[in-house]
Amino acid sequence: MSAPVRSLAIIGGGPVGLAAAAHALERGLTPTVLEAGAEVGHAITQWSHVRLFSPWQYNVDKACGRLLQATGWNSPESGQYPTGSEFVERYLVPLHERTALSEHIKTSARVTGISRVGFDKMQTKGRQSARFEIRYRNGTEKSLLADAVIDASGSWFSPNPAGANGLPAAGERDLLGRLFYGMPDVRGNLRERFAGKTVAVIGSGHSAIGNLIDLIRLRDEEPDTRVIWILRGDSPEKAFGGGANDQLTARGELGSIFEAYVKSGSLEVVAGFRTAHIARVGGRLRVGAGSACCGRQVVADELIVSTGFRPDLSMLRELRIALDDAVEAPPALAPLIDPNLHSCGTVRPHGARELAHPEPGFYIAGMKSYGRAPTFLMLTGYEQVRSIVAHLAGDRQAAERTELVLPATGVCNLTVAGAEGAGCCGGPPKSDAAACCAADEAAKASGESGCGCSAR
Ligand SMILES: Cc1cc2nc3c(=O)[nH]c(=O)nc-3n(C[C@H](O)[C@H](O)[C@H](O)COP(=O)(O)OP(=O)(O)OC[C@H]3O[C@@H](n4cnc5c(N)ncnc54)[C@H](O)[C@@H]3O)c2cc1C
Repeated sequence: MSAPVRSLAIIGGGPVGLAAAAHALERGLTPTVLEAGAEVGHAITQWSHVRLFSPWQYNVDKACGRLLQATGWNSPESGQYPTGSEFVERYLVPLHERTALSEHIKTSARVTGISRVGFDKMQTKGRQSARFEIRYRNGTEKSLLADAVIDASGSWFSPNPAGANGLPAAGERDLLGRLFYGMPDVRGNLRERFAGKTVAVIGSGHSAIGNLIDLIRLRDEEPDTRVIWILRGDSPEKAFGGGANDQLTARGELGSIFEAYVKSGSLEVVAGFRTAHIARVGGRLRVGAGSACCGRQVVADELIVSTGFRPDLSMLRELRIALDDAVEAPPALAPLIDPNLHSCGTVRPHGARELAHPEPGFYIAGMKSYGRAPTFLMLTGYEQVRSIVAHLAGDRQAAERTELVLPATGVCNLTVAGAEGAGCCGGPPKSDAAACCAADEAAKASGESGCGCSAR
């Protein structure tokens, strides 16, 4: 970047966007947060009934904590686990309403495109000194100019479809209003829709498991409820996670509870099912794998699609961004989180360097930075934006420094000679290679694509 950065546009008023703004204020930059929803934490509000698996001590960014402390904030007990709504009400809303951030957040402001003033994507000469132009809708169409941009808009609002090949299953688009994407409150406001029904859930990540556990609990209260788990893979065990080895106890427990339910036959498991088509049959839904005439089928009253998320890249069309072709995360980050290469889910902290794009001054951070990979933690996002803002403010040393130790998932049981007991996959890599752990580093050094622990 040729000119010093003074103004910073931040897309998304979720926990990572607000953390970026708090760090920017501390460093004397002027942040503007553009949030599409009517209130900060709009994405989390969509899963407000869900209890977080990380306790408060892992959920509060340090710079945000400092802003809140200055207001006499009644800080929550560090070891407690908030629900999504408690997290928004006790942390994000006070940040918005009671701290210096209040003057720097615009709500109901949906960003639709980002470019450089006077430069489209093709033009190179002079590009770096042009400011960013951020187009957003707030009643009418408006523009904001800034020296740098952090896109922390998450991926909650672009869920993956049900189709096993990543495309919507045949018929899925026509049934969008009839299917449920995300995490319905089946024991709360949506009880009537799901109680006493046959409900199928597609997916095997944390959201799918959370939905299935809620449905089984609903079945305990409403015995006519039938719960069907549809998963693409052949082995349900992969969804059980690290159990007692997970350093985030509640995340480990979720997997263990689910494992017990599966083993006791509390739900019907349909494994190795590659969803290809969905049709309405009478008032019910028929989900099919293989050909429409003669493949396997599941018939249910309700279908919840919990197949993960992907980043919405449409607003970035005029920027020069580089993303891994599979994971859709920045190329230096992708090998650390690609579940094909490494299944620990334990990612070493990373920052400005790993998140850089060919467009200087532009970064994707937070949940969206993980592209299609799962297991993102807020803590990871807080470290990302601490480093990015330090870099933008010209403090290269702080940008390169690591100020975070992430809790291990305990998923991986691989040990490396001489590194036993050093943690997941033998502990962190020894050099600065694009590896996420010692085992991964050793595998890459011997010409393999990664430690491949998922295959063991
Ligand atoms: C059900 C669930 C439970 C989770 N539990 C935990 C947990 O216990 N611990 C943990 O560490 N992590 C957890 N995560 C993962 C992750 O930390 C959270 O999803 C977190 O909310 C990500 O923060 P973020 O700021 O990156 O994105 P988000 O919280 O998704 O915030 C993005 C914001 O950007 C806004 N936005 C989107 N598009 C636009 C646009 N075009 N213009 C303007 N604004 C826009 C959205 O409205 C939203 O408010 C969980 C995730 C899910 C889905």
